Amino acid sequence: MNEQTTSRKIVHIDMDAFYASVEQRDDPNLRGRPVVVAWKGKRSVVCAASYEARRFGVRSAMPAISAERLCPEAIFVPPDFARYKEASRGAREIFHRHTDLIEPLSLDEAYLDVTQNKTDLPTATRVAKAIRQQIREELNLTASAGVAPNKFLAKIASDWRKPDGLFVIQPHEVQQFLLPLPVGRIPGVGKVTESRMRAIGIHTVGDLYHLELTDLENHFGNYGIRLYQLARGIDHNLVVANRMSKSISAEDTFQVDIPLAETEQQIRRLAEKVWRASRENARGAKTVVLKLKTKEFHSLTRSVTPSAPPSSCNELTTIALSLRERVELGPQQLFRLVGIGLCNFQLDVESPLFENGDAALNAEAAVLSI
Ligand SMILES: [Mg+2]
Repeated sequence: MNEQTTSRKIVHIDMDAFYASVEQRDDPNLRGRPVVVAWKGKRSVVCAASYEARRFGVRSAMPAISAERLCPEAIFVPPDFARYKEASRGAREIFHRHTDLIEPLSLDEAYLDVTQNKTDLPTATRVAKAIRQQIREELNLTASAGVAPNKFLAKIASDWRKPDGLFVIQPHEVQQFLLPLPVGRIPGVGKVTESRMRAIGIHTVGDLYHLELTDLENHFGNYGIRLYQLARGIDHNLVVANRMSKSISAEDTFQVDIPLAETEQQIRRLAEKVWRASRENARGAKTVVLKLKTKEFHSLTRSVTPSAPPSSCNELTTIALSLRERVELGPQQLFRLVGIGLCNFQLDVESPLFENGDAALNAEAAVLSI
């Protein structure tokens, strides 16, 4: 690893079972019981599950019906994002006591660069401990923290002692920690990549480590370069404050799957929501995105960056509707979800909330992800 990587101190904070924990905190009857945060309805998905529910195999993003089957005694609670945002804001206020270099990933997760911290604590580990303690005492919630020389490692570390845990990867421990890990632990390596890797005999980060850069590039293109670095614990990505203001989106899951031709009404409604949100934040977005999910759960997006950003809700709607023409799946194809997004903002102003967007609410349950 080079100097630049070793000299940084990054903390990744991840609130434990966040939405479910807020519910349990606010309603004593829910404490110690399996709680599933989800809307009612046949096609709803789980937004969050308490650890008691997870013991039954309930997980975020699984259909609510499956959760019910796995854990019939689970208590279903509809999500209340106003309260989650409030708690999230509380956490962010705590982070700000320690550093202003905060990159939220969702309502319940953030990277903090504490290479220099405001409270003069001597180590990043002490900063992480202080933050966890303040979250516990002031918000009555628990958070797990990972401390490492870069974002990639900090994220893996916060998951290592979850829930309510702290794990530190010191610069000299990186290789020893990393090499035995299954490749699936690498953020960005999903099921598909993982099985492709397995097919060519790559099971652990150590297996990746022993491959030449050219081999990795041959197999994985540009991502191969990234993998080569990650296997060595190298990640130069900086903590970017205010990254949240990068996109505004809204999406909807239909009650029944419908063909593309019948999505106009939803697209109009979503465009309105997105437009309103973008106006409130006074930003001009250059790129319009249409997101779709097929009946078979394949996601696809189509986007366009017109020469001038959309200047009215009508214009945004027209662009979003026209993006449908670039979906070439035939009129028979049925879709379960549609979403509209705006990104590539001209003015990046600070988002008033610690919130996102795509990462927080990609659960597809008639969710407005603004
Ligand atoms: Mg979390």
